[in-house]
Amino acid sequence: QIYLDNNATTAVDPQVLEEMLPYFTTHYGNASSTNHVFGKKASAAVVRARERVADLLEAKEEEIVFTSGATESINMAIKGVFERYQSIGNHIISCVSEHKSVLDVLRALEKKGAKVTYLSVDKDGNIDLNELEEAITDETVLISLMFANNETGVIHPVKEIAEIARDKNILFFCDATQAIGKIPVSVKEIGVDMMALSGHKIYGPKGVGALYVRKKSRKIQLEPLVHGGGQEKGMRGGTYNVPGIVGLGAACERCKELLKKDGKRIAKLRSYLESALLNIDETFVNSGDAKRLPNVSNIVIRFIKAEQLMANLKNVAMSSGSACATGSLDPSHVLMAMGLDKEDAHSSLRFSLGRFNTEAEIDLLIDMLNQKVTKLRGESPVWEL
Ligand code: PMP
Repeated sequence: QIYLDNNATTAVDPQVLEEMLPYFTTHYGNASSTNHVFGKKASAAVVRARERVADLLEAKEEEIVFTSGATESINMAIKGVFERYQSIGNHIISCVSEHKSVLDVLRALEKKGAKVTYLSVDKDGNIDLNELEEAITDETVLISLMFANNETGVIHPVKEIAEIARDKNILFFCDATQAIGKIPVSVKEIGVDMMALSGHKIYGPKGVGALYVRKKSRKIQLEPLVHGGGQEKGMRGGTYNVPGIVGLGAACERCKELLKKDGKRIAKLRSYLESALLNIDETFVNSGDAKRLPNVSNIVIRFIKAEQLMANLKNVAMSSGSACATGSLDPSHVLMAMGLDKEDAHSSLRFSLGRFNTEAEIDLLIDMLNQKVTKLRGESPVWEL
């Protein structure tokens, strides 16, 4: 089995797991019960994890709120701003190519009176900053734009977006789920107001994530999503998921350690894979001309349905250009927004490489793909060379 679906989720790094394990058994205290040693141990672990997450993002510890993952962080940020600031304005700006966890929140808020402008993307998946500036009205309270796209890897100009937001006194929330751990992400450098991240995309466990909420200069007031217990300074109730939080902290530290080395190695493997695939006739890379994450290759192999290729390559884990989340076969909203036709969207495959991939795996994949493409095109009535 070759795993090339690291944008969907990653394996937990063994070092991360090792750090987590004692918090399931020996140190199982409730991090809020600090009147005894069990609670103290758990509480210290949460403090340490918060430092490690903050360190990776160049944030302060008090700016990190632990959540159950990016989806919750996204809900917390967008709903939290809308609830709190709707007396100031009800307009939010986002983009058609955002992840469903952002788009679905916005749709829910539209039913509650929010007005949302969805920016378009060009053929490479890039937004237009002029369109962003023109979309701003007196009612705009929030800009919600992702750092890097999960399907194509396209990187948005987050620093410029943050500048525009700051100029107009609008909050900027960034879903950085896919960027963190793959490229350097510094909240200080970007000047973002809120940022979401997830443990399971960065070789940490599932079911844990964080929201960065800026404390400096202008304090952001969010309406909490989960009430109860007073944890996270009342921002997010519920007993601390100590092993998960420890895992998230360890994963962040490991990402910081490995970022340069891993990034270079993975980028090399990705280019190697991509050039081999481009040697096949009638192929092209989606967002090929855009600034992209170093680990993703979203490629169209024309005249073959991605699903069909995947069914023929059962020992390779990858993803197709269909809306995977619901298991539906609708073409991806991201690729459609970039102007691909349905045929090309259905012929799109996403390879997302990660920390544990090797050159030998990529060699094997290239061989297998070449064989299967020749075979399937040979059987196809529409394929003629
Ligand atoms: N945003 C993006 C860009 C993602 O890729 C994902 C995961 N597919 C999410 C948000 C949701 O993350 P989580 O699974 O942690 O809720």
